[in-house]
Amino acid sequence: MNKAPPQLPNRSAGETQDSKVALIRSELDGHFYLNRMRLRFAGALEGRYRRYCGLRDRRYIRQLVNILIALYCLYGIFDWVMLGVLVEPVYKIRYAMGMPGLIAIWILVHSRKLDAHLDKLVVLGLFWLSVTTLTMARVVPDEHKGLYLISELAIIMAGITIGKMRFWPALGSALLFVISYVLILMPFGRSNSFLLYYLFLSCGALGLCLLAQYSTDRSSRREFLQKLLIHRKNQQLKKLNSRLRDLAEVDALTSISNRRSFDQVLDEEWRRARRRGYNLAMLMCDIDFFKSYNDSFGHQQGDLCIKQVAQCMQQVVRRPGDLVARYGGEEFAVVLPALDVEEAANIARVVCQSVRDLRLPHPMSPANEYVTISVGVAAMVPTGGHVAGDLVGRADEALYLAKKAGRNRIQVYRPELSDGSASDRIGA
Ligand code: GH3
Ligand code: MG
Ligand code: MG
Repeated sequence: MNKAPPQLPNRSAGETQDSKVALIRSELDGHFYLNRMRLRFAGALEGRYRRYCGLRDRRYIRQLVNILIALYCLYGIFDWVMLGVLVEPVYKIRYAMGMPGLIAIWILVHSRKLDAHLDKLVVLGLFWLSVTTLTMARVVPDEHKGLYLISELAIIMAGITIGKMRFWPALGSALLFVISYVLILMPFGRSNSFLLYYLFLSCGALGLCLLAQYSTDRSSRREFLQKLLIHRKNQQLKKLNSRLRDLAEVDALTSISNRRSFDQVLDEEWRRARRRGYNLAMLMCDIDFFKSYNDSFGHQQGDLCIKQVAQCMQQVVRRPGDLVARYGGEEFAVVLPALDVEEAANIARVVCQSVRDLRLPHPMSPANEYVTISVGVAAMVPTGGHVAGDLVGRADEALYLAKKAGRNRIQVYRPELSDGSASDRIGA
């Protein structure tokens, strides 16, 4: 009976239109559930399922093949015990005829290149075991035929069920067994009713085996689909997580780190500097006369200007461990671990110069014909009595002084300058 396909959740807006996912989705929705009697996925999904089974079962199947071949060889002892002097023709079939074929199959089964065809090789191996065992059953006296037939049936059933065969190869193995039985034994059987009885017994047992395999194959396919869905959901979650991380840490306008990220890095670096007893420096930067820039060119152009200044700073401050972040509005903060105040001032000068070198016209600025920034520089070795906020406060205070002194300059924080007496002017 065909059932309606289960409803999978709708695509979320952020989901990628990845064609692979779309393919799997259509296959999950449509083909498998509508064609469940066929025990086959549509298109590429079937190949993927077989690779999955191959990876899951190949070691196990190889071990099973080893055991079956070993048992086949060891059964020679029982031949000898049962048949005594009559054993010779049976040994010829078992070893001279059977073994070369089985050795060839053993080599193929253990070849990694044929992993994808393992199920076909197992069918071939079982077929060859059937042919040789049934031929032995043909030549032994009637009172011993039953043992050979039972052992053959046991081998086929073990191959199908313990070998976790998919339903269709299992059906193929069962049919090959029945065909070989009829072709090898029936025309020569002296007591046909006895052989017919065994044939019906075998068909019944194999029918039950196939029923079990049908259900095993379906459960295995359902398990595969569930794993595929979980895998797909995990991929989506990973993408969403990385997007969320970006949203949480990256400033949308400038694509540099945002305030939250700055706070986090400053805190980490502060604690590291305190542990190791070294300096932590920072710059606080602010675009000069930006209100009038917006007035002259409009807010969209203002946004573009903020973006260009941010990118420029990001390119200048390139040491691993340094961080350039948008602090807010048209203000940027730079964390510079393990630098003293003079080294940080040198970087501040380079940053200031680089922004000026962008040559973004700013006709309304009394400080320069181009867009400029003012920078407050502060550095300190964290001690027990201070917190990270004190460093930000000092850089802010220095920035205030730079603004007060005319802008387009850097100002290093020194406690004695807190009253705003001096600033380090760089080229106007
Ligand atoms: P100062 O030299 O003293 O820094 O002068 P200023 O005009 O830059 O003064 P202030 O820092 O107070 O003003 C900043 C202006 O920046 C105010 C606001 O309109 C503008 N601004 C803040 N954020 C944005 C933004 O994201 N985009 C744009 N276009 N403008 C912004
Ligand atoms: Mg400002
Ligand atoms: Mg400003």
